Amino acid sequence: MSVKINKSLCNGCGNSKESRCMRVCPGNLIYKNKDNQAEIRDKRECWDCAACVKECPRQAIEMYLPVEIGGRGSTLQAQDLGDKIVWKLNKLDGSVEEFNIQNKLWFNSNL
Ligand code: SF4
Ligand code: SF4
Repeated sequence: MSVKINKSLCNGCGNSKESRCMRVCPGNLIYKNKDNQAEIRDKRECWDCAACVKECPRQAIEMYLPVEIGGRGSTLQAQDLGDKIVWKLNKLDGSVEEFNIQNKLWFNSNL
């Protein structure tokens, strides 16, 4: 599996040395190329945690899904709206399914 980065959407998160997707990748797999766009070093090293997918503010990163989950050629995108994350399942036939997952803050008021 792994992810793909859409060059027409990625703006490198501005001029900062470290972009948002670079910051959250636990495997340090993402870097910025000479055109100030995100690239993945080695797709074989990606373990599909989806951290970069959720973090990208421009929905420029898509994660490939196994056939068993999304069907052949399907990908997953995410849009973090603060109180919820909208997950988009893009299928090979061009159809899109959306799933809204609420972000909840859990805390123990006795602490
Ligand atoms: S977070 Fe998104 S816009 Fe920013 S560098 Fe990564 S892919 Fe590009
Ligand atoms: S899915 Fe996880 S491991 Fe793979 S590139 Fe994104 S942040 Fe890194």
